[in-house]
Amino acid sequence: MGEQIDAGHGGIPDWLAATLNYCTVCGAPLRFGPIEGEERERLACESCGHIEYVNPRLVVTTLPVTERGEVVLLRRGFEPGYGQWAQPGGFLEIDETVNEGAVRETLEEIGLVVEPGEVVGLYSRVEAAVVVLAFEARIVGGEARTTPEALEVHAFRPEAIPWREIAFRTSTWALRDWLRLRHPELHPGDDRVAEEDRLPEG
Ligand SMILES: [Zn+2]
Repeated sequence: MGEQIDAGHGGIPDWLAATLNYCTVCGAPLRFGPIEGEERERLACESCGHIEYVNPRLVVTTLPVTERGEVVLLRRGFEPGYGQWAQPGGFLEIDETVNEGAVRETLEEIGLVVEPGEVVGLYSRVEAAVVVLAFEARIVGGEARTTPEALEVHAFRPEAIPWREIAFRTSTWALRDWLRLRHPELHPGDDRVAEEDRLPEG
């Protein structure tokens, strides 16, 4: 019964709003509207008063760097961004620290054991309801390999990053900020695709 949530429901993306029809406490329909004591309109249950706060999820990622200073990216084997390049990463689990999540996702996706180091950046993708954390990471073990999630794994020299084939703006931003940190001589801020929206649906 999607009609419980009207269009323009407080900035919640439609795809996410479609999953938020019923109260998780009592099962009654949720309604979007003003709530006493809240500074913005929210989804709430008219039956039991439960407020359904809707917040972004955290995606933890790494930019694994080889001993030669190359950055390891993967060609995504799943949507969104199928066939395009991105850094390894995924949703942080509820029982993990950000470091643990970043290490786990990197191992799962490309077979490398990494040691997260400096935080390169933290980026919002509002339309996807995520916040993406990017660590620079040292490769300390494992062996780069393809997986169902990674059609191809490649170590790119800093000047050879495939900007035109990067899956997400957040990946472009993370790579650009990493270059600013480690290779300012490449003038990464000048990259003409840096602000371009390459986000696929979802
Ligand atoms: Zn309820």
